[in-house]
Amino acid sequence: MPSVSDAHRAVVLAGPTAVGKGTVAAHIRDHHHEVWLSVSMTTRPPRPGEVDGVHYHFVTVEAFERLISRGELLEWALVHGRNWYGTPRQPVLDALAAGRMALLEIDLQGARQVRQTLPEALFVFLAPPSWEELVDRLVGRGTEDEAERERRLATARVELAAQAEFDVTIVNDDVRRAADELVSLMRTP
Ligand code: 5GP
Repeated sequence: MPSVSDAHRAVVLAGPTAVGKGTVAAHIRDHHHEVWLSVSMTTRPPRPGEVDGVHYHFVTVEAFERLISRGELLEWALVHGRNWYGTPRQPVLDALAAGRMALLEIDLQGARQVRQTLPEALFVFLAPPSWEELVDRLVGRGTEDEAERERRLATARVELAAQAEFDVTIVNDDVRRAADELVSLMRTP
């Protein structure tokens, strides 16, 4: 198990849907090589340009269930009621044992589980610059019908309310600025 000296070396980044967690994490992957990024397991199919083992480990539902039953996931969740996502446990523990700064970019349900399994981690909430900005990002394209739009907004309201559960909030007003703030937080003991 990680020791007390690992405190704040593990950072969990979560936040509402469409706030840009993935973009901030990708910026850190590309520009801050001192940070080790957890590669999640997912049952969703790869998008164009996504590389197995880099962006995600793409697995079948059967393989995902096997990982759960063997206790190999630190946390897992069904995201948007569609696909399973989970954090492989051992690579996180290995990275921390090697003294690396480890970043887990996961959804809110996963973050709540990590609170139980890795309580010494720092929990960071990525917030939109404003409610209007989040609404724009969520429904901006206007391709959804009214019911879907309402469903997304209701989810966003609940997700924003989770902010109080977190240790720190970072506002995603600019990807590079938010990423730099996150990395400097990781460096702070
Ligand atoms: P996407 O499919 O767009 O890459 O990610 C969808 C959502 O899944 C995002 O909110 C992302 O934070 C979340 N996610 C990615 N990996 C994990 C994981 O390992 N565990 C959990 N709980 N959520 C994850």
